[in-house]
Amino acid sequence: MKDRKLYDRLLEKIVIDESTGCWNWTGYAFDKRPYPGNRYGCIGIRDPETNKSRTIATHRAMWFAVHGKPAAGQCVCHSCDNPKCVNPNHLWLGSRRDNTMDMIKKNRHHLKKKTHCKRGHLLYGVNVMVTADGYRHCKICERGRLRMRWGWPEDLAFSVAPLPLGHVMNKKTGVVITESPKARMARKRSHSAGGEA
Ligand SMILES: [Zn+2]
Ligand SMILES: [Zn+2]
Repeated sequence: MKDRKLYDRLLEKIVIDESTGCWNWTGYAFDKRPYPGNRYGCIGIRDPETNKSRTIATHRAMWFAVHGKPAAGQCVCHSCDNPKCVNPNHLWLGSRRDNTMDMIKKNRHHLKKKTHCKRGHLLYGVNVMVTADGYRHCKICERGRLRMRWGWPEDLAFSVAPLPLGHVMNKKTGVVITESPKARMARKRSHSAGGEA
């Protein structure tokens, strides 16, 4: 136990749910937050490092009290998926990415509501990639941005599906042609020699 006083303050305002074992916080909560997953309980603490008081989520406060402050970038996550729960046995420490992946797996991420990227591609299944910071990105758009760097015109860069091996597209006309292995080798060579394909 790192902070008995904080621990006791947390225990003052809980109701134990016998069926789940959750310690449900009954005090203040971030109820105004737009995403249900964010409606954590909250409590004012004095940060030992800065000696300033601030409001933090109660499940985080419980982690502080029992284990001490987690390292920067570490999230306190719920194994029970219950934002109001402060049972230390229902909490685990993960990176922001772990937390997002966990939420996506459990279909609980608020951005899960976002079904399309800003260019209107479906954000689903194989078109989704999750980066280290925990955000979901549209693969079609990632490919489009790369293609624009390679000189593709914008409308084609974002709309053309990946070309199967052995096919190339004329970037100006958008016409796709098959390419013999010999021609492919020659193009690769001229690329690596710094020439324009
Ligand atoms: Zn719980
Ligand atoms: Zn997209």
